[in-house]
Amino acid sequence: MGTMAHTWQCPACGRRVPMRVSACHCGMTRERAEVMAEAHAAAERPAPRPARPGLRTPPAPLPRDVKALVAGVGLVAVLGLGWLIFGPRPQPPVPVLGYVDATPPPVPQPTPTQTPPFMLPWWKSGRASRR
Ligand SMILES: [Zn+2]
Repeated sequence: MGTMAHTWQCPACGRRVPMRVSACHCGMTRERAEVMAEAHAAAERPAPRPARPGLRTPPAPLPRDVKALVAGVGLVAVLGLGWLIFGPRPQPPVPVLGYVDATPPPVPQPTPTQTPPFMLPWWKSGRASRR
């Protein structure tokens, strides 16, 4: 409803008061009526204002730490999957018909018998063993 040019509506009693009259008969002044009308209109609006003025900044995207963490978790998952697929086989190859895998037997380490009873420096021990 458009306000008529020559009257203003009193919000208290709803009476239309001529513009030349600055106050309604109920005591409401035109200034207060305008303020209340604006406040009422602002309240009727679907809230264009931010809900919290302190949090006007939009939610920031994920920080780098979280991205790195997600990437690390994904990398670990990929590595674990690869380990499960291409990892060491739990079962050794079964020997077929006496065929044994040609793993050389452990060579016994020849115990050096010429070691002096006391530790010589490497240059002296080398010469002593040569001569
Ligand atoms: Zn009034």
